[in-house]
Amino acid sequence: SISRLQSPHLFRQQCYLGGKWVDASGGQQVAVDNPATGEVIGHIPDLGRADIEQAIVAAEEGFKIWRGYTAQQRADYLFAWYELMQKHKDDIATLMTLEQGKPLAEAKGEVDYAASFLRWFAEEARRVYGETIPGAKPGQHIVVTRQPVGVTAAITPWNFPAAMITRKAGAALAAGCSMIVKPAEATPYTALALAVLAEEAGIPAGVFSVVTGDAATIGETLTGSPVVRKMSFTGSTGVGRKLMRQCAEHIQKVSLELGGNAPFIVFDDADIERAVEGAMVCKFRNTGQTCVCANRFLVQRGVHDAFVERLAKAMSELKLGDGFDEGVTQSALINRAAVEKVCEHYRDALGKGARHVSGTAPEGARGNFVEPVLITDVSSDMQLCQEETFGPLAAVIPFDTEAEAIAIANDTPFGLAAYFYSRDIHRIWRVADALEAGIVGINEGAISNPTAPFGGVKASGLGREGSRHGLDEYTELKYLCMGAE
Ligand code: ADP
Repeated sequence: SISRLQSPHLFRQQCYLGGKWVDASGGQQVAVDNPATGEVIGHIPDLGRADIEQAIVAAEEGFKIWRGYTAQQRADYLFAWYELMQKHKDDIATLMTLEQGKPLAEAKGEVDYAASFLRWFAEEARRVYGETIPGAKPGQHIVVTRQPVGVTAAITPWNFPAAMITRKAGAALAAGCSMIVKPAEATPYTALALAVLAEEAGIPAGVFSVVTGDAATIGETLTGSPVVRKMSFTGSTGVGRKLMRQCAEHIQKVSLELGGNAPFIVFDDADIERAVEGAMVCKFRNTGQTCVCANRFLVQRGVHDAFVERLAKAMSELKLGDGFDEGVTQSALINRAAVEKVCEHYRDALGKGARHVSGTAPEGARGNFVEPVLITDVSSDMQLCQEETFGPLAAVIPFDTEAEAIAIANDTPFGLAAYFYSRDIHRIWRVADALEAGIVGINEGAISNPTAPFGGVKASGLGREGSRHGLDEYTELKYLCMGAE
């Protein structure tokens, strides 16, 4: 419980806006619970439209101050924030495990990963370069600068309660923008702890705010304001599409990181040991609840049995339990609906001819705890091939030829991550070119890091986060045309 915290002040049940900690003006609150136990952790404000409008006014004030700072000053604040996250790693991880469920070791890993975005963008802040272009007429000079877009907003999901915020806010603040974050209902306390640390780092009032409450109301208020110039969203395709429509009203810039349906292809010439290692990392991180989790294992027939056997063995070593218990690697799914989705995908697949290989069938789940389960003989007509399972169900599709694998891999509206294992250099180039995905892991199952551009194609989204490209989402080019004397 909260009594595990070394610094209890990191647990805040108020929102942070305009540099102040506030309740809803009408006093409304909503409860937040622990997905492993069902216990209520605490309450958060259910802010109304007027409260959000206040946050926007404060963010506009914050922006005016922040944009006037030098890049070096902004970098120093981001570094201070980064260091505070490191200092309080254990507490942030505790809050995260409490509200999200992930194993404590993974939560600590996420704090490191999340903080790394603040460090990365602190470093990049001083490199928001422009360019000069030879004039179009004699004596003319053309200069291009990058300006912050202004007040920005972020709506984030529950699966990475810290990292999905820092990779947006790090870039926004480095570029000179202010940002209002609406975290997922399920995981507000990690977000509010980040706000406590932003305040401690001395980041000026209104530059970084965290608001909680009804998602649709907050989304409508943020996109309904001409002051907000950019919306960055990570979450489901349905909500992303809706927000993109809403952003049309005031022509707000929009970045979307939506669902995936990652294929993980193992060719006959793959190093099977390494493929199994990569598969475990990429399928079972966060108990299968990441948007880059392998959703479909495509395995060539020559290595099918060997791969399936080794994967089953590796899966049998996973340990399911409360995220706070020692040695646990798989923990509670976020809620009952998540459990039901895994059950449904499993039932649908078996009903259409898939074969159970190992693990306990998800119907046997106690509470939100689903055992890792492996099935094979999966085919494209099954539900799990159309949409993300977001749980510990590993599904294998056998295939014969490279062309067949590519066709199956691309047969989805999504295009976030894709993975494949091969040792043939020509095949590696061919397949890397042919996969319709924003991110391709080649003999690698862990592809997320702050130095590389993260994002998808097709219905998986727009824009990139992390890397130097992540900053582009928060700047606009301004071209200065200097006439001849
Ligand atoms: P998930 O299925 O992962 O929960 P969602 O897209 O529902 O994905 O949630 C991602 C984020 O979007 C959360 O912060 C959630 O509160 C928010 N959200 C949900 N519905 C809306 C909406 N209509 N407008 C704005 N934000 C929304």
